[in-house]
Amino acid sequence: MATDRTLEPEYEVPPDGPAATCPYCGRPFRADRYVTFHVGVEHAEECTDAEHEAFDEERDDEEYDLFTFHFKAAISVFLVYFLFTFVYALVWAG
Ligand SMILES: [Zn+2]
Repeated sequence: MATDRTLEPEYEVPPDGPAATCPYCGRPFRADRYVTFHVGVEHAEECTDAEHEAFDEERDDEEYDLFTFHFKAAISVFLVYFLFTFVYALVWAG
């Protein structure tokens, strides 16, 4: 689906190579802050206190709002799809 790129913008890597990579799994990112997000979410159990603090600080940023927005958008798409299927089933049954 075309929305996949929109939902995971941090996984896009520029042609000239990643600006930063995850110290835990080596995944490339466009910027340090994306690594901070990634570590805070994916490696919450194994990351250091400093990395967790950095993640908490970044969460207040507008970038995190965007991150949350993408998450909500994904849920919304799912709900609309579910509702559409439900309504379609009702019409079909009627
Ligand atoms: Zn990682």
